[in-house]
Formats: sequence, C-alpha cells, structure tokens
Amino acid sequence: MHLTYDIIVVGSGFSAIAVTCNLIEQLPASAKVAVVGDDPGFGRGTAYRTELYLHRLNVPAGRMSLLPHQPDDFVDWLKGHGRRLQAGDFASRSDYGLYVRDTLARLLRKRDGRCRVDFIKAKAAGCVERYSSTLAFHLGNGDEIAGKNVVLCLGVGNATLPVAPDGVPASLRSRIIENPWRLSWLRRVASSDAVCILGSGLTMIDQVLALRAHGHSGKIDVLSRRGLAPLGHAWKPPTPLPIDVERLPNTISGILKTLRAKSRTVADWRAVMDGLRPETQALWQRLSSKERARFLRHALPWWNIHRHRVAPDVFDRFEKLVLDGTVRFHAGFLKSLGAEEGRLVAGFRVRAAREIAEIRADWLVNCTGMERAGISHSPLLKEMSRFELIVPDPFGLGIQVDAASEVIAPSRISPARLFAVGALTAGQFWEITAVPDIRVQAKAVVEEIVSRG
Ligand SMILES: Cc1cc2nc3c(=O)[nH]c(=O)nc-3n(C[C@H](O)[C@H](O)[C@H](O)COP(=O)(O)OP(=O)(O)OC[C@H]3O[C@@H](n4cnc5c(N)ncnc54)[C@H](O)[C@@H]3O)c2cc1C
Repeated sequence: MHLTYDIIVVGSGFSAIAVTCNLIEQLPASAKVAVVGDDPGFGRGTAYRTELYLHRLNVPAGRMSLLPHQPDDFVDWLKGHGRRLQAGDFASRSDYGLYVRDTLARLLRKRDGRCRVDFIKAKAAGCVERYSSTLAFHLGNGDEIAGKNVVLCLGVGNATLPVAPDGVPASLRSRIIENPWRLSWLRRVASSDAVCILGSGLTMIDQVLALRAHGHSGKIDVLSRRGLAPLGHAWKPPTPLPIDVERLPNTISGILKTLRAKSRTVADWRAVMDGLRPETQALWQRLSSKERARFLRHALPWWNIHRHRVAPDVFDRFEKLVLDGTVRFHAGFLKSLGAEEGRLVAGFRVRAAREIAEIRADWLVNCTGMERAGISHSPLLKEMSRFELIVPDPFGLGIQVDAASEVIAPSRISPARLFAVGALTAGQFWEITAVPDIRVQAKAVVEEIVSRG
C-alpha cells in the first residue's frame, strides 16, 4: 500500500503526541496526518508507562500541561480524576501517561472541522527522497507512506551495557537487566539478593524504590563514574533568582564560578538553578563548540544532579536507604563483567586511583540512562544518516537542527520539510528532554509547518 500525507509524525512517545495534539488544533479539515509508531503504550513512551505510584514526575504538576497555552490543563485533569494534588505537587508518571492519552482522545473526539489523523502501528524502517517532493518511509508492515512534512519524534533509546558480558556464562545472562523499564524483572528477585546497579541517575532511584516496593531487602551497590546521585526538590521551593544570561561569562569555568558565587547569596542553591532553568537554551546556544565539549566532559554529572531533581518525599525515602547502608555508592569505571560461584562480578577501576575493585551481586541492572544516545540506537536514523538525509550532531547528542528544529542536511535535495522534536535535538537546544521544553518545541514546529502552508 502507498499513501501520501501532508504531515508524517514518526514516533509514539510524548513528543509525537504533543506534535499531534497541536496539529489537530491548528490544521484545516482538509489536511491529512499520519502518526507512525511501534509502541503499544501509544503516548506513554518509556517515561509514562510505569504502573508504580512511587514512580513520580520530577516536575511539579503545574508545569506539566501538554499544551503550553493551557497551563492548568494537567492540574485540572488531576482534580477531575479525584487526585488531591495541587500545582506544586509531583503526580505519578502513570497518571501523566493517562492524561496524555486522554488529551489526545479529547481532541480526536471533536470531529467538526478537524484534520484527518491516521495512527499506523508500525516501525519506520527506512526513508528515501521522492521526486514528488516528498519523503517516503518504508514501514515494518510492508507499506510505504510519503509526506511533504515530516516530524521525527524518536526519543533517544536506552544506552547499552558499557562492557560486553563475555565472561558471564549463559546461565547467568538472564540476571543482567539491560532494559530495567520492563519491570517484570523485579518479580524474579529474591528478597535477600544482592543487586548491582550501573549508573546513579533518576533511573537508578526509580529502580531502587521499585525493588523495595517488591519486597527486596538485600544490599544494593551503585556504580557510576563519579558516584553522584540526584538531589531532591525542596519541600518549600525557593523563589527563583533571575539570571541575566547576557552577563554570564563565555567559558564553562567562568559560568560555574559565577553560579557558585550566586548560590552563596541565597538561602537555597535551588533558587539559582531554577532561575537559570528558563535561560538554559539561550546559554547553551551562546557557548562555543569548545566550551560545549568542556561542559560535557567535566560538568555534566554535576549539572545532572542539581538540575534533574526528584520529588522531596521520594528523595527522603531514597536517602534513608543510603543512610542505613542499604544503598552503597562506588565511583569508578566498569572494566569487566564476569562470574564466580554463581554470582556476577563487576570489576571496576576506582575513580582517581589505579586500584581495581569488584562488586559481587546476584543481579546487574543497567541504569546508565539515555542522556547521550546519539543516533546509534536507531536503525532508521543510521540509514537516514548514510543517505545524508540527516547529519549527526558532533557531540553525539542526536541530529543537527536549526533554531526552528528543522533538520540541517546540506546534501538533501527534496523540498519536503524534515523536523525533529525532543531529545534528538539536544545539540541545538541542550535543555530539551523534559515536558516543559518539548511541549513548547512541538507547538513551535507545528506553527512553522502551518505558516508555510
Ligand atoms: C523514566 C523517565 C522519567 C521521566 N520523567 C520525566 C518527568 O517527570 N518530567 C518530565 O518533564 N520529563 C520526564 N522524562 C523525560 C521524557 O523523556 C520526556 O518527557 C518524554 O517522555 C520524551 O518523549 P519522546 O517521545 O521524545 O521519546 P520516547 O518516550 O522515548 O518515545 C520515542 C518513541 O519513538 C518510537 N520509535 C522509535 N523508533 C521508531 C521508528 N523507527 N518507527 C516508529 N516509532 C519509533 C518508540 O517506540 C517510542 O515510542 C522522563 C524520562 C524517563 C525515561
């Protein structure tokens, strides 16, 4: 089957749904849209598929509306569904997934004057430029669809294990959890099993709390390059300290020095981070390539723990487990994965030392996250790169786009327009992985498409 659309949205996570909702709101009835995605939990993606209440949003409900022009939309949805939460509270991620799907369903129910939207459950496997001024996608189900405008919303995929488990016998391989978001692994863990988690970000905290919720009471060793864990939001958030980006230095070391000095002038350092938050994209865009590289090499772990904070009650729970010795942190680089006497052995070089140390565990869970997955996780993106339809970002942050999120690919000849939304565009925007930024980008991309007709 071959079908042609005005707009093709590729993906089925939050970004794809945010783009689709804006398209429904802005396109004329004559327009035809296809949304292509292979995810059974359409609209929920990895982030909002979880069923556990303790997997909470890390952004207050009042900033999580899918539609930036209706800021109270999510808070109203929560109230309408009997949740006693206010704008400053941290709702569950499963509720957020339901809200996203409800919002889309609500818009689709309005049949009068709305554009046609076809949801196609398939993976986009390849892409070619057609002489008909379209980009055509080969789908996993054998169909082909072509569009004059395309929005890539592919997320970033999961990072793979940093070391191949060559030394691990087949009988123990099932104890290496490469994708912790398939939560069924938790049911196989015995209460006293020792667990080793690779990576110490938000995913690690989610997995630790999920283990506890499943009755696990054994020790948990966490290994990451710096051994730093996310910090918590304040119970009483401070007023953000306004930051004038134009007056910040141009080097990462100068910026950090200024921010540290500002932190000393306020009662709570979060005021500085929260003041910087709306300006982060502008700050990133001012940095030279050299300084961006410097940031990624030296400052990223510190940025992550201060910027990506957890809900205060979640933080308190996690901290108790650290203080009572249940969760132990190790800073170092994973060097080997082996097995001994029926257990997994993770060998690592201790940070700032030559010493090699070992963690022995019954389970090894990969929580190294998705901050810089580049394009290697996606066969589609790799093929598009080979055909020069996209150009990878030089820092491995996704693909090159301009300030309007339009893909920059000088060798592309077709006038069909290609955009990207979400974390794939981090090279241009940096701060583009969370809902408050993606929803603005999704709306802007749709406005751009509509304005050019
Ligand atoms: C665990 C977790 C918790 C988070 N919590 C928060 C939070 O509290 N607040 C917040 O603001 N942000 C949070 N985030 C950030 C979150 O990433 C974004 O909010 C959002 O979910 C990103 O959506 P996305 O659609 O860009 O990517 P994804 O959700 O990864 O979706 C990408 C989609 O593309 C599909 N796809 C990939 N390749 C193809 C292909 N070739 N053909 C068709 N479909 C394809 C995938 O199947 C997937 O459905 C969290 C992220 C994670 C992982």
